Amino acid sequence: MTAPQPIQLRIDKVSKTFGETRVLEDISIAIPKGAFVALLGPSGCGKSTLLKLIAGLEAPSGGNIELAGEALNGVPAHRRDIGVVFQSYALFPHMTVNQNVRFGLDMRDMPKADAKLRVEEALELVKLGGYGDRMPSELSGGQQQRVAIARSLAIRPRLLLLDEPLSNLDAVLRKSVRVDIRELHDRVGATTVMVTHDQEEAMSMADSVAVMSGGRILQFAAPEEIYERPATSFVGSFVGSPA
Ligand code: ADP
Ligand code: MG
Repeated sequence: MTAPQPIQLRIDKVSKTFGETRVLEDISIAIPKGAFVALLGPSGCGKSTLLKLIAGLEAPSGGNIELAGEALNGVPAHRRDIGVVFQSYALFPHMTVNQNVRFGLDMRDMPKADAKLRVEEALELVKLGGYGDRMPSELSGGQQQRVAIARSLAIRPRLLLLDEPLSNLDAVLRKSVRVDIRELHDRVGATTVMVTHDQEEAMSMADSVAVMSGGRILQFAAPEEIYERPATSFVGSFVGSPA
């Protein structure tokens, strides 16, 4: 038995409304340090919005979010030390791989020599050592996506947020990048929250899965538990439990 890890991310009764529309309602979840958690649910259920609240790109309408015991209310995105990788990898096309990975470090005024080492380290982690001088257009979709992950790892994030990181990849690549991302997590140990609408992805990659629908979390548990004992019939049919 390994010792229980402290809570790295605590979301407490969080809600979000846009105008009259309630998009998230009463979201509470506690994620231990080093865990890999998937937010799983159909399109439009509020997954990306929840990720944006955690990242500080949107403010919650109610409730609290804590990172390593520190309340994030009012802490701006660039002070949170959270790495975010969105669905479209959003590399700067006119910048080399090295420059792309360095970007977040330059924003933090890191000395040049330190930044260079961090960039090399991050590219090694995603198995792209030696690709630093290439342009994004010279890389495959999977490689570009790994550069985006390297960029968020270079800041040594307290939390890594991945929004549908595999959805732009073709089916074959998706399977192998699944394994890559999970192996990377196990080596680096960064607490990770990954959004996906793909139940197979969530169930095969994550330690725990939060199943969402209509702005709520219906169940938060280990994949086997969800599969064998779904909390609602929606959860059961979404993850394909035997009836
Ligand atoms: P998911 O990532 O699960 O597909 P989203 O979090 O992107 O879902 O969206 C959840 C709901 O919130 C959708 O109905 C979407 O239209 C709405 N929504 C998201 N962002 C905004 C916004 N900035 N203004 C108004 N409605 C929004
Ligand atoms: Mg989304």
